[in-house]
Amino acid sequence: MPEGPETRRMADGLSKAIKKKDLISYQFLHPNIDTLNDLKGIKVIDVSSLGKTIITRLNIGKSIMTHNQLYGKWSINLTTTVVKHNRKLRIEYKTSKKIARLWSATDIVLLETEKENTHHYIKNLGPDVLNNFVTIETIANQLESKKFRNRNLGGLLLNQNFIAGLGNYLRSEILFSSGLLPTTRPSDLDENQIYNLSNSIKVISMRAYQQKGNTIDKDDFSKRFGNIFNFRLIRHMVFGRKDQPCFNCSNIVIKSVQNSRRLYYCRECQT
Ligand SMILES: [Zn+2]
Repeated sequence: MPEGPETRRMADGLSKAIKKKDLISYQFLHPNIDTLNDLKGIKVIDVSSLGKTIITRLNIGKSIMTHNQLYGKWSINLTTTVVKHNRKLRIEYKTSKKIARLWSATDIVLLETEKENTHHYIKNLGPDVLNNFVTIETIANQLESKKFRNRNLGGLLLNQNFIAGLGNYLRSEILFSSGLLPTTRPSDLDENQIYNLSNSIKVISMRAYQQKGNTIDKDDFSKRFGNIFNFRLIRHMVFGRKDQPCFNCSNIVIKSVQNSRRLYYCRECQT
């Protein structure tokens, strides 16, 4: 499933292709949005991401909220590209140059733009990790809050009500970077550890956004190993690296399952 960084990149791509562009045609092929087909002159005035949700704002005071879950997918193509697919088309926006399409997703909501924040999904969402206003302090406050401080990190780092945009590969990478096990609770940590964990949550998520899902600190690799080229195929410190040596201690990376999702960690570096 795409996590916050992938969703934000998708929103960036959609913005570039359709935001404030004249639309030659559009189609809305889902019962929740099909009333839009009757309207003339629709334009997309903004596309943004919130956690793993994409919000498309239209010039008619309405917004479409889409969540891709496991099977939904946005694609952006040149109008001349022939697209082969066996998916169900849900939304299509066509400009003179590009076509943006949403395939297969079923979690589609149409709402008044000014009422976005009252929707139950958005209302319950935690601070978006990629938002510039969400700082290390914001994250530390969430960790120390009554609601979350006694929950284990393995569950919290997937919980969108805690911090929106985190997900499975980020969870393993954040825990490794902070030297913590998934069974740890925020209430087990001292102030310093809370700061380090909050910092890892922010920094690794931003890095994944900037490096297209790659969570490795390339400067650190260059310094430690002399070059980054040899590591060009490495995307993560531990995630997906079962039985391979840890980059910090050379012990073998372990794969386990936490909250029904795979988790990778180093027994030596994480306590
Ligand atoms: Zn290690």
